[in-house]
Amino acid sequence: MDDRLKYSTPIMPPIYQASTYYVKSMDTFEELINKDGYFYLRHGCPTSRVAEDAIKELEGGVGTCAFSSGMAAVSTIFMAFLKPGDHMVMNYPVYSGVDNFIRKFLVPKMQIEITRVPAGCDVEMYRKHVKENTKILYGETPCNPILTILDLDAFGKLGQSLPGVITVVDSTFGGPYVQQPIKHGVDICFNSCTKYLGGHSDLLGGCATTRTKELYDVIQDMSITAGNRLNPFDASLLYRGVLTLGVRMEKHSQNALGLAKFLENHPIVNQVWYPGLPSHPQHDTAKKQMKVYAGMIAFDMKCSLECAKSFVENLKVIKLAVSLGGVRSLIELASLMTHGPWISGEECVAMNNLPETLVRLSVGIEDMDVLMEDLKQALDKIPVAS
Ligand SMILES: *Cc1c(COP(=O)(O)O)cnc(C)c1O
Repeated sequence: MDDRLKYSTPIMPPIYQASTYYVKSMDTFEELINKDGYFYLRHGCPTSRVAEDAIKELEGGVGTCAFSSGMAAVSTIFMAFLKPGDHMVMNYPVYSGVDNFIRKFLVPKMQIEITRVPAGCDVEMYRKHVKENTKILYGETPCNPILTILDLDAFGKLGQSLPGVITVVDSTFGGPYVQQPIKHGVDICFNSCTKYLGGHSDLLGGCATTRTKELYDVIQDMSITAGNRLNPFDASLLYRGVLTLGVRMEKHSQNALGLAKFLENHPIVNQVWYPGLPSHPQHDTAKKQMKVYAGMIAFDMKCSLECAKSFVENLKVIKLAVSLGGVRSLIELASLMTHGPWISGEECVAMNNLPETLVRLSVGIEDMDVLMEDLKQALDKIPVAS
């Protein structure tokens, strides 16, 4: 160690880029194992710990594990708590990666039984489907792609009234500055840190925060076993993102509310879904549980799919890309990019009936007037149907 470091401490945590840690003696090794010290990177490192502790505080949980992706976080939660024959009730649509994990692994290989309820449904619908073997109640809020809202208070209460049942919330579209599911009694809250928590579209990560120490220990143990924790470099980027989360979310939300109102008044726009608009079907629930409404907007247009394609291609400042939650605005055409099966699939059409020209806009923190001008010039190019 550099002796000169005894006088001062770096303001940002160093990136501890080491896979292993040496000890002076066997006694020290024993002590470090008992005291949860560092000895091998798969078990954690100080850089990740700083990010995990910061997220834990924001979420109001007892412990947070950071993962190599949002999918690593949620798949580890499933692997940690589900056994063959268990039953899970979940919203539909659900994030596509989660749906893939269920269809390719949980159902065929783990014999997990799934019951789907429409995203944004009354929590009573979850209760109705609870059976002897129900282990997890799962909800995403705001939910892809039309920003439906799950009532966190009712969801947390339902979970706590059912011994042995765990509630899990995917909070990615809000994040911990906006909403804290654990404070509503939810057991496990996870985020894709790739989105708002990282916030700059430059890292892949995830995190899971728990309401109790017991749940934390189970997830921590499973993640060490599965070997899917966050690496030190990305942990450093993540921590940097967490430090600016509040100011970014305020700006994302302020921009998004302005743009949502603008879109709602544009003649070519059919419908706008934004939890901060009074016209949103669950605006009252959103108001109760969200500090601000974050930066995700969905809308459809009175035009053909071909025109919707030209619209997303005609934007200049707003980039055509999947993903969300970064400082730069992104747009995507859900039926051809993230949500094809949801929009054309029979099962999903029956449940949700999503429009073909649905676009999903991740509003960044650019100057709002610039974004509005960009949307306006591309919308004005769409021919009005006679
Ligand atoms: C991106 C995302 C995930 C998965 O996260 P990755 O970091 O891509 O693995 C899960 N849920 C939601 C809602 C997401 O947007």
